[in-house]
Amino acid sequence: MAEIGRSIVKMNVDELINLLNKALADEWLAYYQYWIGAKVVKGPMKDAVISELDLHATEELTHANLLVTRIVQLGGTPVLTPEDWLKITNCGYDVPSDPYVEEILNQNIKGEQCAIRTYSSLLDITREGDPVTYDIILQILADEVEHEEDLVSLKEDMDLMLARRK
Ligand code: FE
Ligand code: FE
Ligand code: MG
Repeated sequence: MAEIGRSIVKMNVDELINLLNKALADEWLAYYQYWIGAKVVKGPMKDAVISELDLHATEELTHANLLVTRIVQLGGTPVLTPEDWLKITNCGYDVPSDPYVEEILNQNIKGEQCAIRTYSSLLDITREGDPVTYDIILQILADEVEHEEDLVSLKEDMDLMLARRK
């Protein structure tokens, strides 16, 4: 464990590790929700939606990597089993049982909005006490804000296209 690196953290490290693990569970669930959504989605503009879902899946995995690296640096144990993902998640998992594009987009927009709220509160918590974690969370938050916007703008394009056809 990086002792000095850990010692400069001016907040409860165990509590921080716990919060980072909850976010790590969120990222794995978000990864799978995007990844499987891209496989089953059907409807107008399907190809554009699939590209975006696949890209976001990759980016959620990058977030998981950033979080797990920080957890290990802090001397924590990252969540070790998928069984725990649903137990500790902040944002849960929406089963894409309805494959229609709009429904898949709505589920993922809801997920991103939860992620934005979660990371925004993590920023508040780490701002004073742990600038290293703060910087990581800020990078992730910027991606989640972009994700929400990407999905909302896809939905707007789809609505416009469908409206013109009437
Ligand atoms: Fe993410
Ligand atoms: Fe995201
Ligand atoms: Mg995107």
